[in-house]
Order: sequence, then C-alpha cells, then structure tokens
Amino acid sequence: MDYEDRLKAWKEHFSSRVTDDMIPKMPDVWYPRKQPSFIDKAGNFVRACCGYAQGGFKITPNDLYESRVKICQDCSFFDNNSCIACGCFVSFKAKMLSEDCPKGYWPKT
Ligand code: SF4
Repeated sequence: MDYEDRLKAWKEHFSSRVTDDMIPKMPDVWYPRKQPSFIDKAGNFVRACCGYAQGGFKITPNDLYESRVKICQDCSFFDNNSCIACGCFVSFKAKMLSEDCPKGYWPKT
C-alpha cells in the first residue's frame, strides 16, 4: 500500500472531519514527485542522445553500469525502472557513458 492508498483510506475513514487543506503535503525526499511531463521527458531524451553522440556512443563498462543501477535502485526517485527526476529508463541511462544523475548521485565520467 503506497502513500496515495493510505491517504485515500485515511480520508475515507475520517471523511466527515478531514478536509483537503488539513492534510500536510509530503516533501520530495519522502515521496517522489510524479513523472516529468511528456515534453520534459522528450527534451531530456534528446539531450541524452546528443550527449551520447558527442561522447562517441561510448557504452558504460559493466562494473560501472552495475554500480550506477545499484545506486538508482536505492534512490527515492527510482520507480518501476524509471528515474522520476528526469523520466529516463534507468537501464538505458546507466548504459550511456556520457550520462549523469540529475540529482548528482552518480557523476558523469
Ligand atoms: S538517475 Fe539519479 S535521481 Fe534518477 S533514480 Fe538514479 S540515482 Fe536517482
């Protein structure tokens, strides 16, 4: 049960006494934002592809790839193999040597 489900159940339970403005907003560090918009994702994808081409289409070595993916899997912005911060598929993003984490958790090489 995620935050939204718990919030819904809580609101149903206290529906007669609780109004929306009484519910505190969860900070990003506790609950990641929604995916970026389609336009933002497309822009990030184009930027990633341009960087990949400029970097000579270099693929990340396996050990570095594994460490990038491990960091992502433990990250609060990781959701269903996607990065919520940029909207990219983590498995593709980590494979491009030219890429970096938008939150600075793993650097560009
Ligand atoms: S790329 Fe960075 S922000 Fe996105 S899931 Fe990975 S570690 Fe988290």
